[in-house]
Amino acid sequence: MAEIIDGRRIAQEIKSELLARVQFLAAAGRTPKLSVVLVGENVASQIYVRMKTKSAVELGIASDTIILPSETSEESLLDVVDKLNADTAVHGILVQLPLPAHIDENRIISAISPEKDVDGFHPVNRGKLLVGENTLVPCTPLGIQELLIRSGHAPAGKHVVIVGRSKIVGLPLATMLTQKGDRANATVTICHTGTSNLSSFTRRADILVAALGQAEVIVADMVQDGVVVVDVGVNRVGDSSTEKGYRVTGDVDFDSVRSKAAAITPVPGGVGPMTIAMLMHNTVQAALNISASSSTG
Ligand code: NDP
Repeated sequence: MAEIIDGRRIAQEIKSELLARVQFLAAAGRTPKLSVVLVGENVASQIYVRMKTKSAVELGIASDTIILPSETSEESLLDVVDKLNADTAVHGILVQLPLPAHIDENRIISAISPEKDVDGFHPVNRGKLLVGENTLVPCTPLGIQELLIRSGHAPAGKHVVIVGRSKIVGLPLATMLTQKGDRANATVTICHTGTSNLSSFTRRADILVAALGQAEVIVADMVQDGVVVVDVGVNRVGDSSTEKGYRVTGDVDFDSVRSKAAAITPVPGGVGPMTIAMLMHNTVQAALNISASSSTG
């Protein structure tokens, strides 16, 4: 039976390490601050935002949430972002996605100051990641890399197969893991809906990352014995035996794949807590960077 990689425990370990850095900054009169902007009433987004601000509070990171109605115009949202960019007390800005359909997400993300872009979605930060420059990188891929390293399954020298090529998970993760250096140095294959014979690729993975957003698509006969599986998916499937009428499951059929894998992340309790821990990491990093550049400039 596979080892269960405990994302909650590792996320807690990272947050404990961050506390010391937050205290260092606070002692210098620079308490890191994260501002989250939430537009509309998407229930899942409201839950994510609450989890993020709760984590910030636990670490002594200042945080505020700006809640705007779903009919907010693109121009009004740009004004809010501009004000946060100009506010020297704010080190991290996160505009919770998805945004209502009438707002151009790319335009909003591009308006965030790259130094405060703690989601790592700004084109400047994406470009820096691509050319291997130190920068703020997307939280979920960063969390996956950290999870692998801290659980003793470092990607170096391994064949990592990523199913999913989204801009927030698959693509940045592939970029990160192919870089030269101890934390990466993997050989990466990216699969997507255009991939013919998906199993022929997934079966050759030493590390398989499932980021499809399709419930329990990865089953036991799609993996080889001894694979390490990272399940990024968060899917709601109907389940009349539960009080809520649904259960949350990953992109991997956990029970069947577990019987062949060497290690596997659960859903919930795997990648999710790591994403939030890395958001805290990026906020502290942004505060340190801004603090360093203002003391040298
Ligand atoms: P997207 O829908 O943006 O991307 C899904 C990707 O998977 C696409 O590249 C798509 O291919 C590919 N794909 C979908 N179905 C198949 C299939 N049957 N075979 C092969 N490839 C397939 O999703 P995200 O990357 O945003 O999210 C993926 C999952 O991860 C979701 O369940 C999401 O909720 C979860 N998530 C969890 C996070 C966490 O912190 N735990 C954070 C972010 C996401 P194509 O490009 O060809 O369409």
